[in-house]
Amino acid sequence: MLSVIANWKMYLSLNESCDFLKSFFSQDLPLSKIELLIAPSFPIISIVKKHIGSQSCGLVAQNLCSEASGPFTGEVSGKMLSELGCSHVLVGHSERRILYCESDEIIRKKVNMALQYDLKPIVCVGESYEDYQKKRTSKTLAKQLKAISKLQSLWVAYEPVWAIGSGLVPSIDEIELAANNIKSICNADKVFYGGSVSLKNIDVLCQANGIDGYLVGGVSTKIDDFSQLLFKLSTL
Ligand code: PEP
Repeated sequence: MLSVIANWKMYLSLNESCDFLKSFFSQDLPLSKIELLIAPSFPIISIVKKHIGSQSCGLVAQNLCSEASGPFTGEVSGKMLSELGCSHVLVGHSERRILYCESDEIIRKKVNMALQYDLKPIVCVGESYEDYQKKRTSKTLAKQLKAISKLQSLWVAYEPVWAIGSGLVPSIDEIELAANNIKSICNADKVFYGGSVSLKNIDVLCQANGIDGYLVGGVSTKIDDFSQLLFKLSTL
């Protein structure tokens, strides 16, 4: 079954999330055909859980602390997320790597912390535009995955930095090559593609072999587009 992860980033406020969730879950969503997971920001997690109710939809945290507990003001631990009902956690999203200087070593610690608290890590990897131009994608993926290559039970999302929020996407060949690379380096249970996934490009993106699902950012906060995307994917 294809999986779709909705990464809401820091877009929807509490009230906006409630409005979204009320209309979104009032539809007859194809949740028996698509594995849907929603990644809201921390303060919205409980609200999303309440709206999911008994429906089949996973709850994903967008980040976690690399430490278990202690004097880390502003951080959120794996244990807290687990107790809130999260099943998965995004680790190493490029926005965290770039804006918050998360190193591969910090990401390794976060992945281990997630696994310790029964949260499936969704590790995000992907090359910068400069590395893409210099044909260093495989090298970048190898570097980013090296420290976690022996771990089991991971999901990995291939998200080229230059494709995120830009409207640009890699070619099918490039996505397939990256997916094969990821699978040859680590024991990923699933490999996702993320970066500007939309109604306009999903038909083409779906042609890439070796992709088990999609990580959707901006479009996942737009109820009509996101619902249509799910219905479209459910018919493939
Ligand atoms: C993301 O940031 O994970 C993402 C895929 O964003 P977008 O779909 O907006 O490019």
